[in-house]
Amino acid sequence: MRYIAAPWREPYVRNVEQTKGCIFCRARRLKDDKRGYVLYRGAHSFILLNKFPYLPGHLMVAPYKHIASFEQSRKELSDEISDLLKMGLDILKKNYRPHGFNLGMNLGKSAGAGIADHFHFHLIPRWTGDSNFMPIVGRTRVVIEDLDTTYARLCPLFRKKTRKR
Ligand SMILES: [Zn+2]
Repeated sequence: MRYIAAPWREPYVRNVEQTKGCIFCRARRLKDDKRGYVLYRGAHSFILLNKFPYLPGHLMVAPYKHIASFEQSRKELSDEISDLLKMGLDILKKNYRPHGFNLGMNLGKSAGAGIADHFHFHLIPRWTGDSNFMPIVGRTRVVIEDLDTTYARLCPLFRKKTRKR
């Protein structure tokens, strides 16, 4: 069996310490959603692609406000985040057909948070046998997508949801 690592994570691993500012605040302010890989904007929170995904379709949901504390967030914010997570699950389930999901938060640096001051959820589709690497085995078809492809694929689906709301 041959393994290939997720090569798009390399610049992240190398540059994470040098990146200045908060990626969520920057994405929120960008006028161009495509540049920030923003898929959906709600009233209090938004959905964006992780620029350094472990697997294709790795989404993040974050509040517009730069806040660290989820437990102290207002109910309208946490309710909306829950709605956006459900929306993300629904769209990924139908279009990527993963075998499962990881859904959660890293709160605090010691818990593995890259950006600890601006809380955010990760939503990661999982396939049997992926385990952070993508096994390339004879008959197994592995979908490897770059970020622009994922964005182009998901963007219209979230747009449709925007119209329905
Ligand atoms: Zn922020």
